[in-house]
Amino acid sequence: KLFNELQELKGNIRVYCRVRPFLRGQGASNTVVEHIGEHGELVVLNPTKPGTDGLRKFRFNEVYSPTSTQAEVFSDIKPLVRSVLDGYNVCIFAYGQTGSGKTYTMTGPDGASEEEWGVNYRALNDLFKISQSRQNNISYEVGVQMVEIYNEQVRDLLSGILSTTQQNGLAVPDASMYPVTATSDVLELMNIGLQNRAVSSTALNTRSSRSHSIVTVHVRGKDLKTGSALYGNLHLVDLAGSERVDRSEVTGDRLKEAQHINKSLSALGDVIFSLASKSSHVPYRNSKLTQLLQSSLGGRAKTLMFVQLNPDITSYLESMSTLKFAERVS
Ligand code: ADP
Ligand code: MG
Repeated sequence: KLFNELQELKGNIRVYCRVRPFLRGQGASNTVVEHIGEHGELVVLNPTKPGTDGLRKFRFNEVYSPTSTQAEVFSDIKPLVRSVLDGYNVCIFAYGQTGSGKTYTMTGPDGASEEEWGVNYRALNDLFKISQSRQNNISYEVGVQMVEIYNEQVRDLLSGILSTTQQNGLAVPDASMYPVTATSDVLELMNIGLQNRAVSSTALNTRSSRSHSIVTVHVRGKDLKTGSALYGNLHLVDLAGSERVDRSEVTGDRLKEAQHINKSLSALGDVIFSLASKSSHVPYRNSKLTQLLQSSLGGRAKTLMFVQLNPDITSYLESMSTLKFAERVS
């Protein structure tokens, strides 16, 4: 109850921090994470200042330890996802430096088993399940769009593959929308989208870390007794890597990319910060990302940010900058 009231006050913005495990071949001794508390508490140790002086404490709505499973993470966000069926607009973001687990949280690892599925598949799966269980009262139609934003340009990742469905007023403009009726449809579409994302680039990882990818799920529910309709949508956003590039070391295209990423991530931070602090002016127009998501950020819409951390001490400075971003918007 208290938690809900707090959320109301904060304009429905939640920040969940997830610390990824060390990967095979990395030792577990070099972590900056000193402590993870039960109530969203995270304590980080500055490797250059061992001892209590180097400790920094942060607090989020949740913190997930390296041993948290995809199922555990999803079970906490299920109510948020389900509220889309009641006509809410929901945005879920993954923020963090490249390699911190954004794609793992949103999509899952490459070739994921069902157990390793990320938020995207689990959310769609759950929406289908719930909509079917309500079908005596409400009929639902679900459509999916998938785009990437690269250098402030929106690219449709699902263009021209199947027959598209009608768009509603909340759709991403000029991006095709596909009707889906089962999780297998979604898996198929997302694979096509991921392949399209790869085709445009010689190095998949590089490109995917420098663009934002957005899966948008549109839900239209029709009450079979009254005939009234409701719309909700869910944006699932795997953001570009938040790492700062050294201006002295990059030039040309790489510098341009870095500037676009910087600009759009700070624009997103500014929007969420204005919403969280109930500011009267929300600066949506400063980036393509915030323009695109405007109708789903603020108002009755619900926002969840996964803040992803690589626990390795070599990532300490990036992790601190990630945590500071998160602290500002939470
Ligand atoms: P990002 O998308 O932020 O660049 P990835 O999601 O690709 O990062 O994660 C980097 C690596 O770490 C991948 O090999 C991924 O499978 C692995 N990884 C990330 N998070 C987890 C986790 N919670 N459990 C297991 N492996 C993870
Ligand atoms: Mg990624």
